[in-house]
Amino acid sequence: MEILDGKKVREEILEELKAKFKNLNLTLAVIQIGEDAASSIYIGQKEKMCNNLGINFKHYNFENDVKEEEIIDLINKLNNDETTGILLQLPIPKHLNEQRILNTIDYKKDVDGLTNANVANLVLNENGLVPCTPKGVMTILKHYNIDLNSKKVVIIGRSNLVGKPLFNLMLNENATVTLCHSKTKNLKEHTLNADIVVAAVGKPKFVTEDMISDDAVVIDVGISRVDGKVVGDVDYDNIKDKASYITPVPGGVGPMTIASLAENIYEAYLIQNK
Ligand code: NAP
Repeated sequence: MEILDGKKVREEILEELKAKFKNLNLTLAVIQIGEDAASSIYIGQKEKMCNNLGINFKHYNFENDVKEEEIIDLINKLNNDETTGILLQLPIPKHLNEQRILNTIDYKKDVDGLTNANVANLVLNENGLVPCTPKGVMTILKHYNIDLNSKKVVIIGRSNLVGKPLFNLMLNENATVTLCHSKTKNLKEHTLNADIVVAAVGKPKFVTEDMISDDAVVIDVGISRVDGKVVGDVDYDNIKDKASYITPVPGGVGPMTIASLAENIYEAYLIQNK
């Protein structure tokens, strides 16, 4: 078994980007609504990455009961100023129309790849900005030379943020991809048949040893907190000796998400300056 070391790969990517960012004076704007504790941690990680790379970091923090038009007005302003990338930290309160707000973001500044325009680009396999976590999964697989061509992949979880974009990214690399969710019957039959299993469910130890075939590649996207500890979706201790490659939590996909955000900020700059 080999551990897919997301921290190591992230450091390599950020080191390479640092040189490119020098003298570019790029800016990331993060919009936060409400007080979600996990969101504040993720925003802190993004700020740290920006500080390390010399990217200006702007944090806009709104109260839970903010009016939708106030957010829309801010995004319109950021669309038209020197800001390089705009990111709406999810989740946002239910009274707001998430996709309407996301779609206000100029697709060239959409560093989370969640606007309709970038979703279409991904589905059509055209150039665009791709959501950071699935992009990070693709990068770490590539880094360890894990080829997707003709592989059988099972992804558990069909969110717009992780499962669906990863489905398309892997399909574009010629994998045969099955996208499973809470209504999937006999999940184990699917996972046992897979060369690569990706868990993006949000339930600790959801993927157990009996669900994984010998030498499968196991990618754990999940992040949950149990007794103050960060844990993934995969029963790591019992699967690690069976898998050929596995991502740990923490230290696997999480760091790759940050690396992908830095890559997307650079790509956004390139798209805007074509
Ligand atoms: P989400 O929107 O809650 O989606 C969870 C998915 O899991 C849904 O598609 C759901 O199916 C499916 N699911 C739930 N119970 C299931 C079951 N019993 N069997 C099969 N599928 C089931 O979550 P998300 O935003 O994709 O995030 C997933 C996990 O990844 C979370 O732990 C999140 O914290 C983590 N995450 C990590 C990173 C990172 O940087 N590492 C980034 C983003 C998210 P339905 O669609 O049918 O409800």
